[in-house]
Amino acid sequence: MTDKAASSVPSTPPAPHFLRAVIAEDLRSGKHGGRVVTRFPPEPNGYLHYGHAKSIILNFGLAAENGGRCHLRFDDTNPLKEDVEFEDSICDAVRWLGYDWGEHRYHASDYYDDFYRFAEWFIEQGLAYIDSQSAEEMRAARGTLTEPGRASPDRDRSAAESLALFRRMKAGEFADGRYVLRLKIDMASPNLNLRDPAIYRIRHASHHRTGDKWCVYPLYDYAHCISDALERITHSICTLEFQDHRPLYDWVIEKLADGGLLERPLPRQYEFARLNLTYVVLSKRKLIEMVSKGLVDGWDDPRMPTLVGARRRGFTANGFRLLIERTGVSKNDHWLDMSLLENAMRDDLNEIAERRVAVLDPLKLIIDNYPAGKSEDCFAPNHPQKPELGKRALPLSRELWIERDDFMETPPKGYFRLSPGKEVRLRYGYIVQCVGVDKDAAGNIIAVHATYDPDTKSGTPGAETRKVKGNIHWLSAAHAKTAEVRLYDRLFAVPFPGARNPLGDAGGEAPDTELEERDYLDDLNSNSKKIITGYIEAALAEAAPETRFQFERQGYFVADLADHSKETPVFNRAVTLKDSWVSGIKM
Ligand code: ATP
Ligand code: MG
Repeated sequence: MTDKAASSVPSTPPAPHFLRAVIAEDLRSGKHGGRVVTRFPPEPNGYLHYGHAKSIILNFGLAAENGGRCHLRFDDTNPLKEDVEFEDSICDAVRWLGYDWGEHRYHASDYYDDFYRFAEWFIEQGLAYIDSQSAEEMRAARGTLTEPGRASPDRDRSAAESLALFRRMKAGEFADGRYVLRLKIDMASPNLNLRDPAIYRIRHASHHRTGDKWCVYPLYDYAHCISDALERITHSICTLEFQDHRPLYDWVIEKLADGGLLERPLPRQYEFARLNLTYVVLSKRKLIEMVSKGLVDGWDDPRMPTLVGARRRGFTANGFRLLIERTGVSKNDHWLDMSLLENAMRDDLNEIAERRVAVLDPLKLIIDNYPAGKSEDCFAPNHPQKPELGKRALPLSRELWIERDDFMETPPKGYFRLSPGKEVRLRYGYIVQCVGVDKDAAGNIIAVHATYDPDTKSGTPGAETRKVKGNIHWLSAAHAKTAEVRLYDRLFAVPFPGARNPLGDAGGEAPDTELEERDYLDDLNSNSKKIITGYIEAALAEAAPETRFQFERQGYFVADLADHSKETPVFNRAVTLKDSWVSGIKM
């Protein structure tokens, strides 16, 4: 972990969970000689999403808190789908989350020679054979959970013959699909993964790193465990869907270790529940569909649940860490409500974001008894809980911008903001009293008039003795700058997009979204992006892209990474100050 991330990690003590317990026990027993080595193994075939953040935080975080290390390993065993562009974006995302793999950046393709050598060894041992069945034939013979599989006619092919065929496969003599190499384990195993899994296939394809050197490629289950063992990984943590693959993981590396080809102690796989979040979809296929159909503004659209999107949204790496700490690590799949992620972001942003003023839906307020052409400074704290961050000057003058909904001509009972005859405090400034309104020919209010009380300026002796209930923000019209403000909200309008019951079943249970009885795209939130022009404190235009602020009374905003400049300021709303979604419905 980089120092920057370490120093700002939340100070709450780590909550116990089963992965921490396993590692603590292994350290106690000395199983791996005190070493803790984990790995994050992305396939370089797309942009990382919020779910990957959980895997990254667990792998890098567990290593860091135990004085170990975490490898970044690109699982690039499928030559057809992978690209260098994705590798760069994955590195950026891991670094953005605050982690550093040092010199431990690897590729599964680094081990192609080992995979191949070990495959020949399996053949020589009578533990693997070349099968000439087609993919359909193999699938049909695989059996089901209740029926055993049927042995391939090639299962008893001699080692010498298999070896010769395997070498000819490697030499490029056969077309794709003509043969596969299978382990010889147990066609009657109750675990389908052990029914002679294929470990090598023919693919006449260029690989983004090894070029045309290979036309046979190993399959995931074979390559992954060997990569872990070669890198001397101690704890190989992955999501629950790999639980049934663990016996195969162990079978392969145990055999190789027995044969003296791998060193013990061997890595062990542990499975945890993946991150499932309401109001988004995290499947690569769906994310690709939304981008390619133009339903979002690309992979880094702030509404996209990608890490590039999160970054542009103004979310923080620490917010993700807070979410994972608070929600823990379990062995059962479950859904987290989006409000948990938003709250984690709010809590982190509340700590780190300086306060500023912006008026997003402006209405003119004219202080009739304030001299035209005059201005004076009021002083606003940059962070109410951090006086060390100081104060800044907010110029006040005769004409101000206030929020349109901070004025009502005929207010309901309990409305404490500005209305005819009523008083409010202009934050950090004076108490003003509303004395009238200007309307256009159609009767719309175009300006509000007030008078101010010169003895009530915040911070001056006696100013706070007069209490008023309302306290509104404002900007001097002569000093404020305009900015494009992008108000983002949840990408989907319902918790379980595409589900038969998208609001969830009784008791808040997640419906089986796998059923996908409806089109998830029908559940997009049509109000997830609104672009407005607002007024900002002039100095905000100078903010560096990616600087985050709290706009008082509005929410947390970030200077847009791509589009913000001094000349054309652009701010994105990361999250509102309060949750406006209650029981699945936008309030
Ligand atoms: P997707 O299925 O969404 O396309 P993936 O599993 O194909 O994701 P990989 O690049 O293979 O993407 O994932 C890298 C690592 O991230 C794997 O160890 C995987 O288990 C983990 N991971 C993927 N999705 C999640 C998730 N939702 N929660 C936690 N970990 C995840
Ligand atoms: Mg995967």
